[in-house]
Amino acid sequence: MECWRRAACWVLLAAPLPATAGVGDNTFAISLEWLLVLLALLVSALALLRWSAHRALREQRSEYSSELIEREERLSLALWGSGDEFWDWDIVRNELYRIGADRLLGTTDVHDSVPIDVWRDRQVHPDDIARVEAAVTAHLDGRSEFYETEHRVRHSNGTWVWVRSRGKIVARDSEGKPTRIAGTARDISNDRRVARERRIASEVLRSMGEAVAVIDLDFNFVSVNPAFSRITGYLEDEVIGRSSALLDSVQHQPVFYQNIHEQLVDHGRWAGEMWQRRKDGEEFLGQIEISEVVDGEHERSHFVAVLTDITDTKRFEQELRYLANYDNLTGLANRALLSERLAHAIVRARRQDSRVAILFLDLDRFKDINDSLGHSAGDRILKAVAARLLAAVGSDDTVARLSGDEFTLVLENIHDIAAVERKAQLIIDSFTASLDIDDQRDVIISPSIGISLYPDHGLVPTDLLKCADTAMYQAKASGRNTFQLYTEAMDAVARERALMAGALRKALDRGEFRLLFQPKLDLATGNITGVEALLRWHSADLGEIPPAVFIPIAEETALIVPIGEWVLRESLVTLKRWRHSGLTDITMAINVSVLQLLRANLPELLVQMTDELQVPANRVELEITESMVMAKAEQTNHALNTLRHIGATIAIDDFGTGYSSLVYLKRLPIDTLKIDKEFVGDLSRDPDDAAITATVITMAHSLGLKVVAEGVETQEQMDYLRDHGCDAIQGYWLSPPLDAHHCLAFMRSWQPVSVQ
Ligand code: C2E
Ligand code: CA
Ligand code: CA
Repeated sequence: MECWRRAACWVLLAAPLPATAGVGDNTFAISLEWLLVLLALLVSALALLRWSAHRALREQRSEYSSELIEREERLSLALWGSGDEFWDWDIVRNELYRIGADRLLGTTDVHDSVPIDVWRDRQVHPDDIARVEAAVTAHLDGRSEFYETEHRVRHSNGTWVWVRSRGKIVARDSEGKPTRIAGTARDISNDRRVARERRIASEVLRSMGEAVAVIDLDFNFVSVNPAFSRITGYLEDEVIGRSSALLDSVQHQPVFYQNIHEQLVDHGRWAGEMWQRRKDGEEFLGQIEISEVVDGEHERSHFVAVLTDITDTKRFEQELRYLANYDNLTGLANRALLSERLAHAIVRARRQDSRVAILFLDLDRFKDINDSLGHSAGDRILKAVAARLLAAVGSDDTVARLSGDEFTLVLENIHDIAAVERKAQLIIDSFTASLDIDDQRDVIISPSIGISLYPDHGLVPTDLLKCADTAMYQAKASGRNTFQLYTEAMDAVARERALMAGALRKALDRGEFRLLFQPKLDLATGNITGVEALLRWHSADLGEIPPAVFIPIAEETALIVPIGEWVLRESLVTLKRWRHSGLTDITMAINVSVLQLLRANLPELLVQMTDELQVPANRVELEITESMVMAKAEQTNHALNTLRHIGATIAIDDFGTGYSSLVYLKRLPIDTLKIDKEFVGDLSRDPDDAAITATVITMAHSLGLKVVAEGVETQEQMDYLRDHGCDAIQGYWLSPPLDAHHCLAFMRSWQPVSVQ
């Protein structure tokens, strides 16, 4: 406009001025001429003006269009930067115009406008059309402030791309009807994938059994999952923003946590077990894994801690370990732990140049006690034995229970054998006091101990245990309630035992047994009133074996049951024969093992045999050893009562060798007490023994029991016993055990007068 005005002025100034002198006749001519000039000037001015205006317009137009292009370029750039597409829908002309869709859809015809229905049918995923239309309609109807949908559009490569499209009405007609909507669309495939993954991850976290906590770089809680709340007792709100030290347990030193923090800062990872404290103050053992989380720039942004409560697992593991290593009944180490400790002890001994002693301990006649008192009493005895052993050894020593009534002690730092022997004796002595197993009963039980030494007898645990075991058998063989140090000769004994057990198994079939009979003299009448049947074994392989040697093996191998049955039959057959030859007053005493009483149906067997052989049962006396008295149990008592009911009498054998008391005897259905030959042997030498024997006789009589003294070898012993009221005697003074034939001859030739 400015140039427009300037151009007009310039035209006016450029026109020449008309002369004012000489105006007269020719005034009209001058005025016409002037007019023409003026007109010409006007025309040229107008032309100039028009030309100038046109030029300005052209200039302005070009200015506009470059501005527009510039803007469009800027928009394209902005869209390119954001990855968005700009769209513009002319509702009246029904055309959709797009900018920046090239990247989104992979097309190049980005500026082409398409009819909206063509766009819809070609581009929008069929499943999403309804949703898109509903959103558009809602906005057009004024029900929404803007239009927004997430839908899939077809990429030029045929795949579907998720977009979020947002737009607004930008123009309306005079009646307010929308004529244009414009907006943007953005590729959100990635966002959706991330969101989906996040959703899945949070779902996983939610359902995870492990506690998960997200912690920031200052070790403050950022988020936790439900399992975290369940395990720690803290709700999410209670921990967010607070330090993870909230869970620290006093069981760890602060330096422990400090180390973990350092480890995390330096390496971004820590895993291990640590004690943690719940909200209620209770401690739990956590298996924890902490790892760093890095952001898009690979910079550490957080830590994620995954925590499992392993308190129960640990406890279970410990219990399993306990079960695997400790004896359930006594709480002592078991065989596995013993081997481990022994191995360690050996390593230490080798280093220190010292010895290790292995004491193998077996309770004497425990089987009898267990069988007769019952298993629960047996268990209580084993517990009491364990306690006594623990009390007898040092805290550094190992006490283990291997099985049944077998215990093993490992003593370390041994420099001299005498010290081990003293210790063994101490243990044996500690068992002289009775074991308190319950309110009513005190039980006395003795141990037999075998000892082996590292490195003297073996270098490895198994060998040492075997040696101690062998020595223990030797201790049993030499009278029990004692200890034996292993010697190589014992191996020969052990081998012999195995050999003997094998031979014993065949002895019955081979007919290697026979019976001897030892007469008994009644001191009041001077008559032979009975005999005791004594078993003999002559092995084809091993020669003559004394009963003191093979009977224990027969008991151990339970061969005593069939052997005992043979003895019973054989002695009754002999008795029957003697009766036939006129000796009808003779009583047959038969030794019976406790195993026979418990295992075999002895009363039934006796009834059957006496019936079959036609011998009266009241001519049968059964001798049971004294250990039976201690190990009195319902079942033995019952068997004894039944036997007595049948008519048989019961004698207690070896009285005085064990720990039985007359008080116990009172409760038993017995008839006779046999004073052991050891007591009788000492009668003339030991005044105490003499006094005890006299007392036993008196007390037994007061209980209504007959007293028989066995192993009477001298006239002196005989006199003493007679003078103190002993009822009967048996022993070499009268007669050694004889075979049936000789015994019969002896009895027949016996004159009652010879006693005097
Ligand atoms: P026991 O029942 O105490 O038998 C007495 C033992 O003393 C017998 O030994 C006998 O020979 C021996 N003896 C007899 N008089 C004298 C004497 O004056 N002085 C000495 N020093 N000893 C004498 P034996 O026959 O060697 O029997 C040993 C043990 O074997 C028996 O002791 C008994 O417990 C057991 N036994 C023997 N036969 C049988 C049997 O058939 N069954 C069972 N279960 N055990 C038996
Ligand atoms: Ca006997
Ligand atoms: Ca005896």
